[in-house]
Amino acid sequence: MPPRLRAADVAEFDLIERIRARCNVSRDDVILGIGDDAALLEVPAGHALAVSTDTLVADVHFPLEAAAFDVGWKALAVNLSDLAAMGAEPAWATLALTLPAADAAWVDGFAEGFAALARQHRVALIGGDTTQGPLSITVTIQGFVRADVALRRSGARVGDAVFVSGTLGDAAAALRKTQSGSACDPRLLDRLHRPTPRVGLGMALRGRASACIDVSDGLVADLGHICAASGAGAQIDADALPASTALREVFDAPTRRGFQLAGGDDYELCFTAAQADLACMAGDDCPIKCIGRIVAGEGVSVRDAQGRAIDVPRAGWEHFA
Ligand code: ADP
Ligand code: MG
Repeated sequence: MPPRLRAADVAEFDLIERIRARCNVSRDDVILGIGDDAALLEVPAGHALAVSTDTLVADVHFPLEAAAFDVGWKALAVNLSDLAAMGAEPAWATLALTLPAADAAWVDGFAEGFAALARQHRVALIGGDTTQGPLSITVTIQGFVRADVALRRSGARVGDAVFVSGTLGDAAAALRKTQSGSACDPRLLDRLHRPTPRVGLGMALRGRASACIDVSDGLVADLGHICAASGAGAQIDADALPASTALREVFDAPTRRGFQLAGGDDYELCFTAAQADLACMAGDDCPIKCIGRIVAGEGVSVRDAQGRAIDVPRAGWEHFA
């Protein structure tokens, strides 16, 4: 950052040190990490660098009073999810943190949440920026994938099956509950605050899936991006959408279906594959389910098991809408 002659700069370096001490994954491909003007990194031969960035803004992406640990976890999780959707192997992250105040306890909790997920995926924190202002977190994640097997949105072909990982709608259901001020099932809350990026599945899909996206804005909206990029349409069977036990217990079928089709923040993978490639998908550690098919035309249409058309409640989250 530009130099500022203020006493608070001492706190800034203390905050950076607190973050660095907690996010201590070390990797051989980091030649130089936090502490200089830029990091020096080594990309393995034959691989492309996959880079993605996502910002979380307080009171837009999480409530101001959210647990610091959860905010740290989620800031990395949403970025890992983007790498997963490309089939990339995560390696490094940078963290741009804007804080209203030099709140050491909050920063410690945040760094611990970030570090817990970083350790799981061997992500080294290699730099960042720390500034004062309204609470906002930007993570840039970097990973490796061979360009010829990277999972793009554009590869879906008519006749491909459409799959989704895990379960859909839990995070949106938790958000509805908390926003209405009612008690929420902890299993649903967990999915909202500590999403699981499907990194292993994404890597396993290299060379198998024809197209892939992560479900951050809602299934219909995100599958719509695959359709647009691939020049095709999709037909989804609403009765085939996977639902968690918690979601089934808490919400009736029509409400549940709305969350599953249009609710954001799931961070599951939605992908397409030719029929011949289906068999080899079964053994991966995260459950996957066939929910429909790629068809000629455009856009996503939804039907129930009896073939009746279903309206989608809302076409995904959009800022500035
Ligand atoms: P400069 O003034 O050269 O931009 P800074 O004072 O902003 O450097 O940062 C010092 C070092 O600490 C740099 O290596 C930077 O990448 C790192 N850093 C700053 N903020 C963070 C953060 N929130 N998380 C991780 N590393 C950080
Ligand atoms: Mg800086």
